[in-house]
Amino acid sequence: MLRFKDLAELTHGNLLQLKQDYLIQHVLTDSRKLAHPASSLFFAIKGSFNDGHQYIANLYKRGVRQFVIEDSRAIPGIKQTDALDRAFPEANFLQVNSSLAALQKLTAYHRSQFALPVMAITGSNGKTIVKEWLAQLLSPDERVVKSPRSYNSQIGVPLSVWQINQNHTLGIFEAGISRIGEMEKLTAIIQPTEGIFTNIGQAHAQGFASLEQKITEKLKLFKNVECLYYCRDHVPVHEAIVAAKIPAFTWSRHQPADLRIVNSALQNNHFACKFQYQQQTGTLLIPFTDEASIENCLHCLAVLLVRQVPLPEIQQRFLKLSPVAMRLEMKEAINGCYLLDDSYNNDLSGLSIALDVLQNQTRTVKKSVVLSDLLESGLSEEVLYSQVAELIRVHRIDRLIGIGLVIGHHKLKFELPAEFFADTNEFLINFNPDNYQQETILLKGARIFEFEKIVSAFQRKVHGTVLEVNLDALVHNLNFYRAKLAPETKLMVMVKAFAYGSGSYEIANLLQFHRVDYLTVAYPDEGISLRRHGISLPIMVMSPSPDSFTKLQQYQLEPEIYSLEILEACMKALPSDPNYRQNIHLKLDTGMHRLGFTETDLEVLFARLAATPQLQVISAFSHLAGADEAMYNDFSQLQISRFRAMVQRVENTLGYKVIKHILNSAGIVRFPEHQMDMVRLGIGLYGVEATGTEQDALRTVGQLKTTISQVKGVAAGETVGYSRKGIADEPKQIATIAIGYADGYDRRFGNGVGQVLIKGQQAATIGNICMDMCMLDVTGLDVKAGDEVEVFGENITIGKMARKIGTIPYELLTNISGRVKRVFYAEL
Ligand SMILES: *Cc1c(COP(=O)(O)O)cnc(C)c1O
Repeated sequence: MLRFKDLAELTHGNLLQLKQDYLIQHVLTDSRKLAHPASSLFFAIKGSFNDGHQYIANLYKRGVRQFVIEDSRAIPGIKQTDALDRAFPEANFLQVNSSLAALQKLTAYHRSQFALPVMAITGSNGKTIVKEWLAQLLSPDERVVKSPRSYNSQIGVPLSVWQINQNHTLGIFEAGISRIGEMEKLTAIIQPTEGIFTNIGQAHAQGFASLEQKITEKLKLFKNVECLYYCRDHVPVHEAIVAAKIPAFTWSRHQPADLRIVNSALQNNHFACKFQYQQQTGTLLIPFTDEASIENCLHCLAVLLVRQVPLPEIQQRFLKLSPVAMRLEMKEAINGCYLLDDSYNNDLSGLSIALDVLQNQTRTVKKSVVLSDLLESGLSEEVLYSQVAELIRVHRIDRLIGIGLVIGHHKLKFELPAEFFADTNEFLINFNPDNYQQETILLKGARIFEFEKIVSAFQRKVHGTVLEVNLDALVHNLNFYRAKLAPETKLMVMVKAFAYGSGSYEIANLLQFHRVDYLTVAYPDEGISLRRHGISLPIMVMSPSPDSFTKLQQYQLEPEIYSLEILEACMKALPSDPNYRQNIHLKLDTGMHRLGFTETDLEVLFARLAATPQLQVISAFSHLAGADEAMYNDFSQLQISRFRAMVQRVENTLGYKVIKHILNSAGIVRFPEHQMDMVRLGIGLYGVEATGTEQDALRTVGQLKTTISQVKGVAAGETVGYSRKGIADEPKQIATIAIGYADGYDRRFGNGVGQVLIKGQQAATIGNICMDMCMLDVTGLDVKAGDEVEVFGENITIGKMARKIGTIPYELLTNISGRVKRVFYAEL
């Protein structure tokens, strides 16, 4: 193992400060995932939206002592290198040109210390699934180390490779790139001996000039492999591999290849195929029927054949393959509990990531874990469960429920309150809901343990309609807007109205994790609720009531002051301590004519502020009335210039600078030159680009889904629903679905206006929308009771649906009723 000083040599870096030459045990790139302070080496990486140098002081406080940095002056408060010693007397600092490159060098060196075979996987789709399945299929023969989840980036690959130890006999790592020049770096770290090229997407990818260039770049991963597995039916991939003269093993469904699929058929939810390999014929039954899974399986088949796994054995292993769950879901549960449902493969690195997520949930103080036996081939049980116990300990979990004979066998290793059950059924028989109160519970179980049964036991009564909130899409949208901001522009995010219907706490917590600068709610209660659930970001409250100011002080919420009356109420509530500071935000009316001070109020306002030094004006802002529509550009410009003039007077009178802001989501897109000190992002975060010019760049965040309760035939001449509005002019099939106007499905969607999607088929409403249900005309469609229905989402877009009934997406989103269960998910 390397020591800190060795790393200095390896990277040709500059040892700014060396206090103790530690062994490098854990590498850390994200301060929020700190688990082992004393033995972690932190790499301060400058990302597009964040700079790791910002978090060094915080990490030092938490016990981290080893740092790789690019520039000591990028650490807040450090003006010169010699100030490091005063601020961080016990720390080591290594300065390098690029912290990321240093991390990559370190992990490449680590990789080179092991002679094990390593398989690298790249391609447009299927990398993670192929990796997970191969690891499952080879687990009887090998002790596999692999990328956790889809850790395949410039940072993810080093973190994956860092896991290799002397116990492993095979590495399987995925590599993903988004631009030229990246693959060479990943290749140097993975140093693969074999490879799989899964496929290539036809879509024109940003970052590459052409499809050919993208393939050529990806092939750099395989320049030294002994064998590259691929499907030769992907013609451009095949041609490029032949031209690059990479030793290969091909498979094909249509032409001669090393492994030839001769024929195939779908039967009983399986894909059956006959294949030829080395003059022999074999058959294989695969427990999936969709094209993507079949292709992924055939890549794996090729690998198993070459490794000479006997055919009957191959068949057995394939039948046991289970789908790879990529999602981690967050849902409400009984007695004020929350579930983190992570059915991704239950191995050590997966557990570690899930525990990081659990640690970052601030909503309940108490944290529990329900954990099954782990699948981990690289370690003895003894070592494995010691490491599990260590992970549980460092993440400060309050209680553990172990399910399975193996984890139960090692129960003495766990030092926290714990209960153990032989299997899921034993747990369920003994399940008493009262034992779970106000805690966040991580469920992490290998698939054979069927934790979905535990999930339903913990969940509140399920109503057939859910709003699924895709947190990855939300982060994508956040970054879309961030990319438009000047580096110094701050970002305030509006989480009013239950975060536009999406769910306040989860969204706020995610935004806090992604380090936005400010949150805004409409009413004091919304802010108080966020504080009670552990949100610590500054929060502005737009409509404080005159009697709410003491509460606001108590919860450190910052009021928007929009009138002399409200200012008066705020001043009355100030404590007598002259050193007390109350942060406030001034709203200026420049043309919206909703809330805000007008020009004529300013003199009195200034006099009051001058007489009340306890009030600290943090920001001054105004709101554009027509930023979403180009036809109002002139008026927007007028508002902006009025605002600049007014805010100038504010600053001149106060004698200090305030944060100035006027742009909402549409404004960020339309008036990038007026970002000033901060912008206020709202609807765009939730996937609606209000100017309509860049909608394609955003991802859908919310999907409202329900299920079919019943399908029935009605004869010609019958009618459907209240007031007999739905008329069957011919015999019809009708489906009743579990959503009505009480869920927020507007009554105006009745009688054919509303359209939904069922298994890829469009259907329209028939008759009036009822309170809890409505009916669809599904004549001629392939649907049955229990089928999932997309009410709006990826395909039935909220923008289109809003236009149909003459409203705006804002209204549809915020109308989704509180009784509709929200499920949050992320792929991590
Ligand atoms: C809601 C709101 C925003 C955000 O508007 P979007 O159109 O959703 O981006 C910004 N500022 C104020 C004052 C708001 O009330």
